[in-house]
Amino acid sequence: MDKTIGIFGGGQLGRMMAQAALPLNIQCTFLEETTDCPSAVLGPVFPAGTEQGLQDFIASAEVFSLEFENTPLADVDVLIREKLLYPPRQALATAQNRLLEKSLFDQLSIPVAPYRAVDSLDSLQQAVAELGLPIVLKTATGGYDGKGQFVLRSESQIQQAWAELGPAGSLVAESFVSFTREVSIIAVRDQRGDVRTWPLAENHHHHGILSHSIVPAPDSTDLQPVAQDYITRLLEHLNYVGVLTLELFVTADGLCANEMAPRVHNSGHWSIEAAVCSQFENHIRAVAGLPLGSTAVIRPTVMVNIIGRHPKSEDVLALNGAHLHLYNKTERAGRKLGHITLMPDDSSELTGLCRQLAKILPEPLALSEAMDIQAI
Ligand code: AMP
Repeated sequence: MDKTIGIFGGGQLGRMMAQAALPLNIQCTFLEETTDCPSAVLGPVFPAGTEQGLQDFIASAEVFSLEFENTPLADVDVLIREKLLYPPRQALATAQNRLLEKSLFDQLSIPVAPYRAVDSLDSLQQAVAELGLPIVLKTATGGYDGKGQFVLRSESQIQQAWAELGPAGSLVAESFVSFTREVSIIAVRDQRGDVRTWPLAENHHHHGILSHSIVPAPDSTDLQPVAQDYITRLLEHLNYVGVLTLELFVTADGLCANEMAPRVHNSGHWSIEAAVCSQFENHIRAVAGLPLGSTAVIRPTVMVNIIGRHPKSEDVLALNGAHLHLYNKTERAGRKLGHITLMPDDSSELTGLCRQLAKILPEPLALSEAMDIQAI
């Protein structure tokens, strides 16, 4: 192997990073609590949460990255005394705290919903008075997939919202955005500052979890340059190296940022087959100091998550144009077990293929919505 990259986390994102690294003769190692994690078949896993595990992990590679957004900053601080981490610590620290994140968006003139920091019942009442209702109350740290959130629609819910989220620590109250759809932009920046961006994905959620992404997002020609501009501001400000994702709401007034993820993203899994160079390969290239590959789309595509229960692999693979990725995880309600990328030779068949897939998935998810997509 020419190089070893150590990755904080050993889930499916690490697994797909390591799969992309292998053809480049790059080995990955992982720091993860459970040693039978999805990445384990691709490289050594060191036990997270132990001092020895962290030391061995640091010794195992020359350069480091992450796939787990809540990687403890204390671990990162130990690492960066000795070795390089891409993306930089500041990007991780910012993404881990919604208040820091929103103030960075403000600083870079990236539109966000009006928000207030909340740390007491009084300040929640004040936020409601200033922002008006409805508002979304979120934990500043630790939330994911819509967890740690409360949508406040009437003043009578203030006490309940505070009782539920108050104990979680620092909170942020933000105006409810009446969006028409949710999109994400994924970009990569290399060590020389070269930036490449994939096309916007239109994301559909089910019970707060990404169900499927449509790429390119329909009717996004005008949105793409704006989203590209926003994410480039972030990449440059943070002197970022690697893949960064920005989740955005589409509103009548244009794009409004929701949050960023300092890592490869579920809404970019389609890029393994449907882009010239995937988010995983370009991330590895950036971290390894190699030049970036093209982010062009080969064919329009829909990526569908497998959540909770597995479909029969033979049923999925019998669909012409379906690519199956399983993460070697056991079934559990709400758990991401794999994904399917649909990219038929003839893109006009994409809607029909979504319809066929919806029939064989054990959990229908929100895929029925995809059946109505006309403009792919
Ligand atoms: P988040 O954890 O911030 O990504 O939020 C999870 C989901 O909640 C988003 O994908 C949106 O569907 C919804 N959401 C979050 N913030 C807002 C908001 N300010 N207004 C309306 N919906 C929101």
